[in-house]
Amino acid sequence: MAEVCVIGAGPAGAVFAARLAHLGYQVHLIERARFPRRHLGESLSPGVMSLLAAAQMQDVIESAAFSRVSGVWVKWAEELTLRQDEREQGILVDRGEFDLRLLGRARDFGVRVYQPARILEQVWDGGRWRVRIDADRKQTDLSVDLLADASGRRQTRQRALVGSSTLAVYGYWRGTSLPTMPRIEAGRDAWYWGVPLPDGTYNTLVFIDPEQLRCVAGATLGERFLRLLEASNLMENCSGAELVVPAHAIDATAYLSNNPVTRNRIEIGDAAVAIDPISSSGVQKAIQIALSGAVVANTLLRRPESAETAISFYRGQLADSFERHRRWAGQHYRAVANHNNHSFWSKRAASIPGPDLMLAPAAEARTSMTAPLALSRDLKFVPTPCLRGDFVSLANALHHPRLASPLAFLGGRELAPLLQGLPPSLTLAQIAQSWSRRMPFASGMAIAGWLVSHGILVEQNGGEAAP
Ligand SMILES: Cc1cc2nc3c(=O)[nH]c(=O)nc-3n(C[C@H](O)[C@H](O)[C@H](O)COP(=O)(O)OP(=O)(O)OC[C@H]3O[C@@H](n4cnc5c(N)ncnc54)[C@H](O)[C@@H]3O)c2cc1C
Repeated sequence: MAEVCVIGAGPAGAVFAARLAHLGYQVHLIERARFPRRHLGESLSPGVMSLLAAAQMQDVIESAAFSRVSGVWVKWAEELTLRQDEREQGILVDRGEFDLRLLGRARDFGVRVYQPARILEQVWDGGRWRVRIDADRKQTDLSVDLLADASGRRQTRQRALVGSSTLAVYGYWRGTSLPTMPRIEAGRDAWYWGVPLPDGTYNTLVFIDPEQLRCVAGATLGERFLRLLEASNLMENCSGAELVVPAHAIDATAYLSNNPVTRNRIEIGDAAVAIDPISSSGVQKAIQIALSGAVVANTLLRRPESAETAISFYRGQLADSFERHRRWAGQHYRAVANHNNHSFWSKRAASIPGPDLMLAPAAEARTSMTAPLALSRDLKFVPTPCLRGDFVSLANALHHPRLASPLAFLGGRELAPLLQGLPPSLTLAQIAQSWSRRMPFASGMAIAGWLVSHGILVEQNGGEAAP
């Protein structure tokens, strides 16, 4: 049985380790901190639940007393408004508790956990990794086939792409009149975020340009933090509140690692990509990367002949994900930059180079139910690395000017086999009918309709169809 060593038991490390153990590997997970411990990333975006379900780890949230978010106070480009969410999809967690629970589930899958443990040495001897660790003052030598770095954000990491340098200064409060809903605010040259946590504390964060901290009066970080916070309304009506954990500062710059995977080493979660915290979806992204990273690792270990395909898939996926998020965040900063000309905002808004390429252009195309359809002349099928079950392999993906990126699957169906065998001159309903052995008619209609709306299926007499 091949062996894997994972460094770091945050969400990325725990999920990655659990998936690989589930796939039959012997997995060693090394964590330097004793859990539970505080950690940023306490506001979980809605997508976390389904990702945890995919990893069979959703009970980590379901059985815990974390808080659901029914609304967020937002003062961004407009006046203060309460954005309500009746479905309460966002979740506020105590990361100490959340990570401890995830780690417990990883153990259930058979992961061997060393904690607190220190890595003394890690060397590739040409065939395997030799990893020497110190756990409970006892040295252990591991010999593994693959090393996974899930050790989170680090300033020294080699980065291929980097967003605007950002520093977060934060502190946790306790008191009797603290806010019960999260709050996000745009300031003159900073943005602010207040997060009420399940343990009754309130985390307040200020995001600034790093050089700005030097210009703030105060002898200590704590004093400067309070000055910065005063410019916001996060603590209004919180008389008598006390800081329970001294202020900390952390780099919050978005980046993409420049070498996230080789044949015997892979980076997972924030170690590979760290996104701008403005979306509060770093944990979701880390888990998503862990899930696809586990498939990449499985391919490297079980199908070494497909290693280059797997490596190319992973690099492409991370770069795409980084870019997509950078544009998304840039649009949010632009909303403020439109009426606030401080460089804090314009710099961040400028990180969107043009229109959002990652989203398909607005779909305009329509067709009548009786019009005969054909494949667009501009459509090409190009072999592209894709996730298929537990492996990465090549699939014929659709390349088309109306698609932001190559597309191999839609609604879980592989598109090329559906389209390559399509008889000419069928109407929308006839196309869906022709796929009826592969999927229900309604799914066929949905896929065919989407292809029409994106200009991939076009009206045969509209002059654009392939000859
Ligand atoms: C200011 C700020 C606010 C944020 N707020 C949010 C938010 O509200 N919501 C959200 O979803 N995301 C948020 N994030 C992002 C989120 O914190 C991360 O994306 C997420 O924690 C990444 O998970 P991870 O498992 O990759 O890394 P981490 O959660 O950082 O876990 C890494 C683990 O590795 C361990 N480790 C490190 N080095 C070693 C070593 N050498 N040996 C052994 N163990 C090691 C660490 O102790 C840690 O337990 C925020 C980030 C910042 C900077």
